[in-house]
Amino acid sequence: MKYLFVTLLTVFTVSYNSAQNSITTTVPETMSVVDYSNTITAEDLKTHLYIYAGDAMRGRMTGTKGQKLAAEYLRNFYQNQGIASPIEENNYYQSIPSDYFGKSKNRGDSENVVAYIEGSEKPNELIILSAHLDHVGTDKDGNVFNGADDDGSGTVALLEIAEAFQQAVKNGNGPKRSILFLHVTGEEIGLFGSRYYTENPLFPLENTVCNLNTDMIGRIDPNKTESPNYIYLIGSDKLSQELHDVSEEMNKTYTKLELDYTFNDEDDPNRFYYRSDHYNFVKKNIPVIFYFNGTHEDYHKISDTPDKIEYELMETRARLIFHTAWEIANREGRITADKL
Ligand SMILES: [Zn+2]
Repeated sequence: MKYLFVTLLTVFTVSYNSAQNSITTTVPETMSVVDYSNTITAEDLKTHLYIYAGDAMRGRMTGTKGQKLAAEYLRNFYQNQGIASPIEENNYYQSIPSDYFGKSKNRGDSENVVAYIEGSEKPNELIILSAHLDHVGTDKDGNVFNGADDDGSGTVALLEIAEAFQQAVKNGNGPKRSILFLHVTGEEIGLFGSRYYTENPLFPLENTVCNLNTDMIGRIDPNKTESPNYIYLIGSDKLSQELHDVSEEMNKTYTKLELDYTFNDEDDPNRFYYRSDHYNFVKKNIPVIFYFNGTHEDYHKISDTPDKIEYELMETRARLIFHTAWEIANREGRITADKL
């Protein structure tokens, strides 16, 4: 009888203590994944994009002063958010010498901009979120190619996604796996920045779980004006069925976009799978998803400006990327390249 009493007392004490512990650890965790996702807003995306794709950036041609200004904008953002660099304190630039871009093109030095959130449980496993920071500069009359959609949209989406993850970190609820925010340079002149990264990775490529690449998510393809609540996904099922399934599930649960796989078809003549930065990761057998709105009348024209962006739609698309990254970062097992 006494024994039982002691046992009950012990049980009571243990559960009381664990309740106390769970209260102290869960108090800051009152935000859910949906709350974090909801910090990604059309308004914030718009604020960033009007600056990032503004005339002062001079079209962000690789190696130019305008591109350096763009890189500084990204670096300052991460610094202000308290999101660390994976290289060293306050150095968010992975420098790339001008030679790398081809001497004939006479480019200056350039840099990828990188920021990093270390995983709380599996820090060696890394998810790379990428977007290209450069664009095509100015024309001979000095007109600026603002590149609001290409790829201002993917760039500022990455900033907002990083902010959402950082909010989770602040609440003691950061991702279990690590996340690298990789803003690559030299895309428009030949996918140079992403190639440089895969040849000089900051973390071992064998520990890189996947790459989610965003290049143009702010506009509507003229073929989709009747049903604009869509995004084209390319590559999701090519190396990993698991990655594809997670992506589908996250969309069904949270964002409910039409996921259109038209351009994922091997026979599609546009061959978009081979045409943006994710492809350098594919070459290293790393599963990818490429998020893309399709081309439109302002593609690579001086009329690709921030006033033409569909900010509400872009918010939903950015949230899909966030939810997918969150699930891959936090799920029990690592996504594998099960179709290699
Ligand atoms: Zn692009």
